Parts: sequence; structure tokens; C-alpha cells
Amino acid sequence: MKYALIIPDGCADEPQPALDGRSPLAAANVPHMDEVARHGVLGLADHVPASMPSGSDVGTMSLFGYDPLQFHTGRAPIEAAAQGIALGPDDWAIRCNLVNVSDGRMASFTAGQIPSDIGRQLIEVMQHACCGDEHWKFYAGVSYRNLLLYRTRDGRAPFSSDTYTVPPHDITDQPIDQHLPMGSGACDLRALMERSEKLFAEAEPNRARTARAELPATQIWLWGQGRAPALEPFLDRFGVRGAVITAVDLLRGMGRLVGFDVIEVPGATGYTDTDYAAKGRYAIDALKKYDFVVVHVEATDEASHEGDAHEKIKALERIDADIVGPVHRYLQTVGDYRILVCPDHPTFVRTRTHSHGFVPFTMCGTGLKHNAGADYSEAAAAATGDIIPAGHNLMRRFMSR
Ligand SMILES: [Zn+2]
Repeated sequence: MKYALIIPDGCADEPQPALDGRSPLAAANVPHMDEVARHGVLGLADHVPASMPSGSDVGTMSLFGYDPLQFHTGRAPIEAAAQGIALGPDDWAIRCNLVNVSDGRMASFTAGQIPSDIGRQLIEVMQHACCGDEHWKFYAGVSYRNLLLYRTRDGRAPFSSDTYTVPPHDITDQPIDQHLPMGSGACDLRALMERSEKLFAEAEPNRARTARAELPATQIWLWGQGRAPALEPFLDRFGVRGAVITAVDLLRGMGRLVGFDVIEVPGATGYTDTDYAAKGRYAIDALKKYDFVVVHVEATDEASHEGDAHEKIKALERIDADIVGPVHRYLQTVGDYRILVCPDHPTFVRTRTHSHGFVPFTMCGTGLKHNAGADYSEAAAAATGDIIPAGHNLMRRFMSR
């Protein structure tokens, strides 16, 4: 049996006044997704527990069949896995944003989309300042997205589940002093953040940025901490060998953590200009080698963050025509197969941000019943009454023989 999962990230949405009360998914022309729904199972799943922040790290973990309440430790360990950074059992990974704080407020959680080469120099300043400390290790990433590791040496890390940090994108324009780290190890994190303020004020790359009237990084912001999640390999859990196609680090990291191979596709950007057809072709190639192939497309989420319902519809139509259609046609030639289409979480065009709540899933193929006979949309999925409140159970159902 061959299996394919296609994830249109954040595609679930609300009815839109501008679309005569239809959601982007309902308004989009997606005949191949509709075909899956008409010949298979249509329903709703909730991948993001109410107690957790909504995002692809939590949603994808659930979509892959692992309960985030049990396994999710933080966002940084998943990003560390994406970069191939191995964590010891007691090591902690922490997200290290380069941010701009002005007048005590979070002015930019990206430090004005700081370029990677300048970001790297600033991270090196931090690493140099901490090089007398055996525990801290900074890793430069892309732009403002960097990582800090706490390497435990024969002891215990100062952090625990009560260590509390705040994502900087949640506090844009708000005073930062109410949102600083709290709980176990918070004083260590605060000390590093304070130190970065002084170091960055004098750092040459920052002064050059200010001179060019660009936003300097005034400090680091530490958040998203966690230890490596103890995820059973997908192969052991479900008995199939998998691969993932994505342009997004979080998805690469999640894939690596469950033992998938990560397939890089030239032209995959993680944005609305991504090469959809290349992703479809690579998915078909991968299905010749692997039992299970995941294709993740970020463009639907990006369109939502921009508040652009029409761009979201366009992205859905491209995913349908260039990925779902060709992959499904290929699977029909190989014998036994199943195909599943499901986003990780809703992202509302109205609020331009990730939301909690149910998302529509649809799957068809060998041994799966029909329940709907309807097109793929939020409303049609709700009408079937096939509801999966703990979304991680969807994968078990998809894989069960
Ligand atoms: Zn997502």
C-alpha cells in the first residue's frame, strides 16, 4: 500500500463576506480534492489542543499521529532537528530571535527582517561573550531566526516545564517588561537578554544598520524552549517508511524527528511563488521509493497572514491542480493506495493569524468507506458528523488496515 498526505498549511478558514459567505476552500475550484471527498471520507479534525499555541509545530505533530499534549516540548527542539543539531537527553534548545525594542516596546520581532549575514555577526558577538561558559552555544540561522542551546554537562539544566517564555510575534507594540521569561531558569535567560542589549548597542553591524536608517537588532529574545521530544519513529508506530517534501524548517524538523527522509525540491520557497508542479513531480518520484510521502505547502498559510483571500484561493487551486491531481492519478496506477488531504490548523484571513478549531480532512483509497458524496469544504465536512476531536487519531485511522 502506498500512502500520500498533502498539507495545505492553514487553509481552513471562515466564511468570507467578500466571497458571498463562502470560505476560500469552498470558493476555490479544487476538482481533485473534491474527487477525494466524493469517493471517500470527509470530516473534521482538531490538531491543536486548546491549551497550546496554534502553529505548524503543534498541528503537524498531531497530523503525523503524535499527541502534542504528550510529545510537544517546544518549538526550538524541532528547529534544532531541522538544522541537524542533535540534542542530548537533558539538553535544551531555545529560540533566539533578533528583535528591535524601542521605548520598552517590541517594535519588530524580526529586527526589520535583518539579513542573515548581519544576524550571523550578531550571534557571533553573543557566542564570543559567552565562550567562557561551557553550557551556552548559539547557532546562527536564517535572518532573525536563531537558536541557543543549553548543553548539560553531568548535571541538570536550570529549566523545567514551569519555565515560561513569550513568543515575540505575540507582543508586537506591547511593553516587553510584562513578558520577560519567568519560572525556572528565567534569571539566566533574562541575564543573556540584558547582556545582548549592551553588546548590540556597540556592535559594528548594528551601527552600520542605524546609519543606513535600517532597524537595528537591539537585543535577543529567548522563547520556545524545550528538550528533544521523545517521538517513536513513524516506521515503528505505523509500519511504513516515510519522506517529507517541504520548504519550511519546522516541517523538516518534525519529519526528521519521526525518522522521515527530507526531500529538497528546487524552486520550493515556502511562499506563494513556490514551484507547485515541481513538488508534485518530486512527490510522485518519492512514492516510487517510499511507502508514505508527505507534501507540505506553506503558500495557503502565507496568503492568510497577508489577509488575501484571493491569493489563498489561487494557492489552493495550484495545490489541487499541480499536486493533489497528479499524485492521485499516479497512485491509481500503482495498486493499493490511500490519499489524505488535511491542513494543520486554521489560519484566518480576517485576523491574519493562526487559529484554534477544527479543520476539514478528506481521504480516499483502498479499504476506506464513503461517507459524504460532497465537495471538500469546512461546511460539508461538518455536515458529515465525522468529527475527530483529538486530531492525532486521524493518522491511526488513515494507516489502519
Ligand atoms: Zn501551519
